[in-house]
Amino acid sequence: MVVRSLRSFLTQVTRLPASGENVRRVSNFGFRISIFEFRISIFGSSRRRGIVQLALLALLFSACFEYSRAAEPIRRERDAPATAGETPALPPAEGNVYVVLWFDTEDYILPQSDDAAKRVAEILSRQGVRATFKVVGEKGRTLERRGRRDVIEALAQHEIGYHSNTHSQHPTVAEYESKLDWEEGVEEFTRRERPGFEDLRRIFGKAPTCYGQPGSSWAPQVFPALKTWGVRVYLDDALQVGLEGKPFWYGGLLNIFQIKAGSDLHPNSDWSNLDQAKANFKATYAQLSQSGGVVSIYFHPCEFIHREFWDAVNFAKGANPPREAWQRPPMKSPQEIERDFSYLEGLVRYMKSFPRVRFITASEALGVMPDKAQGHRFSAKELGEIAGQVTSEVSFQVRPDYALSASEQFELLNDFVARAVRKQAVGPLVLRGTPYGPALASSELADNVKVGWSQFSRTVLDVAGFLEKNGQIPNVVWLGSTPVPPESYLVALAQTTRALLSGGALPDSMTLRPAHLAAASYVADDSPRLWDWIIFPEGFDAPQLMALAKLQAWTLKPAMLAVGSRR
Ligand SMILES: [Zn+2]
Repeated sequence: MVVRSLRSFLTQVTRLPASGENVRRVSNFGFRISIFEFRISIFGSSRRRGIVQLALLALLFSACFEYSRAAEPIRRERDAPATAGETPALPPAEGNVYVVLWFDTEDYILPQSDDAAKRVAEILSRQGVRATFKVVGEKGRTLERRGRRDVIEALAQHEIGYHSNTHSQHPTVAEYESKLDWEEGVEEFTRRERPGFEDLRRIFGKAPTCYGQPGSSWAPQVFPALKTWGVRVYLDDALQVGLEGKPFWYGGLLNIFQIKAGSDLHPNSDWSNLDQAKANFKATYAQLSQSGGVVSIYFHPCEFIHREFWDAVNFAKGANPPREAWQRPPMKSPQEIERDFSYLEGLVRYMKSFPRVRFITASEALGVMPDKAQGHRFSAKELGEIAGQVTSEVSFQVRPDYALSASEQFELLNDFVARAVRKQAVGPLVLRGTPYGPALASSELADNVKVGWSQFSRTVLDVAGFLEKNGQIPNVVWLGSTPVPPESYLVALAQTTRALLSGGALPDSMTLRPAHLAAASYVADDSPRLWDWIIFPEGFDAPQLMALAKLQAWTLKPAMLAVGSRR
């Protein structure tokens, strides 16, 4: 870790011109100034030799400077190459059509649904296709109780995701989260859902890689909890948040959610539309293979064999019978069951026949759509361009190689200005993650707020401390006794960044103006259509929950296909 942070420091200093000005700017770290002086005085003009010797020196000294980590203002890198030039050149991935095929494996009442899950897994294994099975905790425990090691082993050939602990027993996720604030919601989701996640880890011998909510029982507080558990992908479909029908980052996770491509491949009520589904896929492929894209398609193993969902039979409209009163759902005829499995088999075989189709699991999607902003070294020039794109309509930015959420812009620009305030070196910056959005909404500024530079600069340092400690955008930013919403503050940070980079004099005063989180328009307004799931009690709504969800639009940005990853 120390070696790595020193390496990032070295990369920084070797990019700086060896001028007295830069030496002075890093002078608040004793060991840096000494290394820096070594370079300019001892190694003289032989830059390359100097860098090599400097690196050796740094490695030797690394153990001695353990303490320097705490004071290290350059952000710790995660899995980042030392320099961009070390990334190997790979052939472009344009045109690959990535199919994420997933199965919500949830019916723990009808025993025949165990066999259905096994049969689905085996059909795919025979075709050499790996899918993602999102399993309910109670389903995993039920398979164990019924001694179905054969089913567990067939599913374990594929990737295992998590689909909540008990799925439809009340209160479901959105029900209990709807009455909780941000922090309480994170805690409660962990209390209720973590045990099922751990059960799946034990039963399948590997941790679930993704999560998706039961029905449309979505909630924003689940994201930080999942991240803590090591889950990095949200895989599902509902209406609460979406970004033009394509994958996106939200809440710090890769979201394969509300995806347009693949939404017309589902079976109709009598599974008679395989030809239509094939034609739809052909059209999707023709479109996506132009520049690459992601198809998301899902089934429930139980729906191949039942006439009605297991939970609709038992938990509809808020009903919550005890275990001994659970009813088995009615089954389809053997002919209907064969027809349904051949729909799946036929569709998968058809999709596989296209040359640029790649079936990927949830975790493989992270490799196909890595968040290249993380670990990226942001140069002063880039920060100037990023600042130049910040307007009073606060939203994500898409740049050639990566995208930035509003909260990432906030952190980068605050770090940049904070370094200037502390008179530190203005070298490349690195993100530490994606800060979460605020926990509470603040009202937009009604009028401009004017504040002296002295106060603004002290606030910048205060905000830097808040970001460092909480990894979250503050609810309000305090300019002395005056609270301003973080959106207005971000716009002022962007103006300050541009002023600093243009080399002009610092302003005597700053004016903060009304601004708003435009990215929140990608999160749905609360409405009964969001909660259109037969399991919810009638009239269920969750305005508080959707208000929290809009605040997390600070974390929203498109997920971009990596150029250079070919599978
Ligand atoms: Zn489900």
